[in-house]
Amino acid sequence: MPEKKSLRRAKIKNGYPPKICLSCGLPFEWRKKWLRNWNEIKYCSEKCRRK
Ligand SMILES: [Zn+2]
Repeated sequence: MPEKKSLRRAKIKNGYPPKICLSCGLPFEWRKKWLRNWNEIKYCSEKCRRK
């Protein structure tokens, strides 16, 4: 069976569970650049944040 990349599950990274982007609705994983403000992150990218 072909892998459905769009339905790929986001994983827990460094102990942080994934979040759902408020703009595009896709799950996104914790990134090192969000180490200090992960609690405030609501969007997967700058692009979504600016919508
Ligand atoms: Zn997004």
